[in-house]
Amino acid sequence: MFSFALVAAATTLAHQPAQEVFVETEELGDGVYALITGRGGNVGLSVGEDGVFMIDTQFAPIAPFLDRAQRAVSGDQPVQMVLNTHLHGDHVLGNAWFAERGAVIMAHESVRPALINPVTANLTGATPDPLSGDFLPIVNLSGGETLTLNGQTIRLYHEPDAHTAGDIWVHFVEADIIHTGDLLFSGWFPYIDLDNGGTVNGFIAAMQSMVDVAGPDTQVIAGHGPMSTEADLEASIAMLTEGRARVAALVEAGHSYGEVLAAEPLADFHEDWNWRFITTERMIWTFYRDITGDIPQEN
Ligand SMILES: [Zn+2]
Repeated sequence: MFSFALVAAATTLAHQPAQEVFVETEELGDGVYALITGRGGNVGLSVGEDGVFMIDTQFAPIAPFLDRAQRAVSGDQPVQMVLNTHLHGDHVLGNAWFAERGAVIMAHESVRPALINPVTANLTGATPDPLSGDFLPIVNLSGGETLTLNGQTIRLYHEPDAHTAGDIWVHFVEADIIHTGDLLFSGWFPYIDLDNGGTVNGFIAAMQSMVDVAGPDTQVIAGHGPMSTEADLEASIAMLTEGRARVAALVEAGHSYGEVLAAEPLADFHEDWNWRFITTERMIWTFYRDITGDIPQEN
């Protein structure tokens, strides 16, 4: 017992973050919450008589603050189940904190092998090293599963080629709430991870499948960005569809990547959609690579 306590204390210290992280807790109704820090993928939470179900875990130093925020609304219960919406570091690196406290980690079946594989793990950007042990999902989903939890029917949908190859989005049916994972960057150009099986048309199709399920009053927790609605999904679909078509027309006319860039095909989208990670140029780069299969060189 003593050594266990010592290990637990050491683990706590190792995870102790240096700085306070502010977690904004948005109560959406029916025991569903969004935990928003602006530092990683937005977290979803279902709290009720069956326990605590968390969607995504952000980064290791942030996990203790997410835990504190969820305990404030769950009556100090530990998280029982975690779903990772996909493999990126800003959605999975808090896993160990919750697994060490009893949570079962779930993800699409492609996520666990990808996190173990050093090549794939290095391509996830915010996931610098292969992961092991408590970081890894132990329930491997194929999509189409339904959870019955806290009075909710919770449907899990897999999108095979959207943001990555292993995206799952979540619909709380009775509460009428969707957690999109990274299938919605609300009001921003989206990151589409072509190295991990993402495609532009698959990303558009994924957003359309959420629109098909959503109604005008559906509350949408975006992977990144503020609380959103069906209209935000539709706006992103329209922008991506039009943007890809413009770049495809330039490619079909025989233009090089440099010529496509110079033509500024997304100029009128820049003010609304450009942001520091996916700039307008990066979005054109993504469209060009998605259409041609070639990794564009700058000149
Ligand atoms: Zn992501």
